[in-house]
Amino acid sequence: MNLSEILTHLGEDREQYFNAVAPPVIQSSNFVFPDLAAFREVFADELSNHVYTRGNNPTVEILRKKLAALEGTEDALVFSSGAGAIAAAVLGNVAAGDHVVCQKAPYSWTSALLRKFLSRFGVTHTFVDGTDFEAIRTAIQPNTKVLFLESPNTMTFECQDLAACAELARQHGLVTIIDNSYSSPVYQNPAAFGIDIVVHSGTKYLNGHSDVVVGVLCASREMVKKIFESELMTLGGILGPHDAALVIRGLRTLPLRIQRSDESARYLLQKLEHHPKVERIWYPFHASFPQLELAKRQMRGCGGLFSVQFKTDTPEKMEAFVHRLRRFLMAVSWGGHESLIMPSIGFYKISGRPDSAMPWSFCRFYIGLEDPDWLWEDLEQALEAL
Ligand SMILES: *Cc1c(COP(=O)(O)O)cnc(C)c1O
Repeated sequence: MNLSEILTHLGEDREQYFNAVAPPVIQSSNFVFPDLAAFREVFADELSNHVYTRGNNPTVEILRKKLAALEGTEDALVFSSGAGAIAAAVLGNVAAGDHVVCQKAPYSWTSALLRKFLSRFGVTHTFVDGTDFEAIRTAIQPNTKVLFLESPNTMTFECQDLAACAELARQHGLVTIIDNSYSSPVYQNPAAFGIDIVVHSGTKYLNGHSDVVVGVLCASREMVKKIFESELMTLGGILGPHDAALVIRGLRTLPLRIQRSDESARYLLQKLEHHPKVERIWYPFHASFPQLELAKRQMRGCGGLFSVQFKTDTPEKMEAFVHRLRRFLMAVSWGGHESLIMPSIGFYKISGRPDSAMPWSFCRFYIGLEDPDWLWEDLEQALEAL
């Protein structure tokens, strides 16, 4: 389905609400039934009917329909955070004694889910180098149930071969889950490669305004129903209707925003790649990216996230660079309107041992919606500190 059709019309039944262009926020926890026949009927399918907002809500349902269509899956669920969606996707497909294979550098709380949380319930895991397909194959055990991918991840952007992983998983009866937050559905649709469950931190590009924390899970109707009836209804990590309305509004401009971030990131990278203080660049579509060919095969663009290792001799100079930036904000997260830096030196102790795997001269950039020349002015003057 055309992106414009999805973002402007899909799921919106305007005649039901006074022909309003913007859907109302149905801020109601429950729904009434005119008679017993209606009462009995809705309970047959709580996922599609309106009974109680922990299950389904009309505003949330509009969002779910758009998200499923964006990823090309039959249905979708939304959660109160990306971490909630990831946990539901994994929990819904494992039991005590099962094993999960995961690419080795996922989002930090995905790693914590496997290492600290699921280990308490007898679910084991193996982290593998996702750039090495044979390593993934070798990590599969007789009790493996889930293959968890994050392609690209959001620091150094390693990719996994989605079609090959989906095929491998099919041969071994595994459920494949991918965290697709980096690309958004605009630039990569993993379901088209055969991946079973696509999850997002909708906090990033999908909402796109740094004002809502939201998680998304897209899958077949059968998988969505299973997770709805178990993880969503039992653990109850739902998205409220007001936040759902904000995300619907954010989605209207998703293609425009991610294209702008993509163009501005590439513009800044062209300037950075020749700068004497730049040692190395990480960006999936950059000529120096080790998996450039695979990235181009799976993705239609990259968006605004890239990383740079700078050529400088002391941590003090790196700190001075960070402090000279005025127009970039220093923060975690990304995908909003504002440009950000996340310098690895922020994870280093002032004295004593570093606690980051990244060198101190490494910095992740997120390029938002500002004028790229205005951003470059800021970067250029800050680079003088290195
Ligand atoms: C932010 C993020 C998450 C977690 O999402 P929340 O909405 O913060 O819970 C998961 N995966 C990736 C890749 C992220 O960037």
